Amino acid sequence: MSVITRFAPSPTGYLHLGSAFSALTAWRRAREAGGKFLLRLEDIDTARCRPEFAAAILEDLAWLGIDWDGEVRVQSQHLTEYRAALDALTVRGLLYPCFCTRADIVQSASAPHTPDGAPLYPGTCRNLSVDEREARIAAGERYALRLDMARAIAAPLAFEEEGEGTILCRPELFGDVVLARKDAPGSYHLCVTHDDALQGVTLVTRGEDLKSATNLHRLLQALMGWPCPTYAHHELLVNAVGRRLAKRDRAETLRELRAQGYSAADVRAMIATFRRSG
Ligand code: GLU
Repeated sequence: MSVITRFAPSPTGYLHLGSAFSALTAWRRAREAGGKFLLRLEDIDTARCRPEFAAAILEDLAWLGIDWDGEVRVQSQHLTEYRAALDALTVRGLLYPCFCTRADIVQSASAPHTPDGAPLYPGTCRNLSVDEREARIAAGERYALRLDMARAIAAPLAFEEEGEGTILCRPELFGDVVLARKDAPGSYHLCVTHDDALQGVTLVTRGEDLKSATNLHRLLQALMGWPCPTYAHHELLVNAVGRRLAKRDRAETLRELRAQGYSAADVRAMIATFRRSG
């Protein structure tokens, strides 16, 4: 089977060295295997994503010498598809509306947390009566949709991590995750898994910070009957004190480096020699 990989940035800022490394990793895997490299803009979070960043990311990738196959998939143009997936889960009684605010959920530091560091949802809205749900929705209260984790898990699940082998999944550690936010028509978990399946991705290459999320993605694949790709979570580029490069730390952007006179070859060489996690 020929390799299909992808790079799926969220356009919340300019491409920095860390994300360029991620793009190069996926692109090389595809090109070395004579496979396909897809590009997807994960822009459903309209509060954080901006069209000018999306355009800049495409331009910066091309400048770096990365080409992609086919059209760029832009998630905000496919909201009805995510809605259909949510509806399919709702019909099976696997989702419920959650009216809690962030403040309702944040608990004391000793309260349990999920593997990605979020407070574990205590299940407050899981047992609301149908009448109460309907009344609150009718009154215009905003709600998220959560997965009823206990009902969703049917059998043990695992995924293949390149270089490591089979990894058993523990989706239950995440509790009742949000699959549609109050302010966005789908969550990252739902949309990324939907699109990897739809686009026939066979190899998901992405940063190791997203490895724990694969526990949930595998569960969604099982629930929706979507195929399970192989995963290759790569190390992250880190700064001098070992902290990962991130937009919020103003990690050096390709734009800045370009303005300072660096060539694409210089930037690639810089990425190749950068400190990495692990
Ligand atoms: N859109 C995600 C991000 O920018 C990455 C999604 C993925 O590669 O699975 O962090």
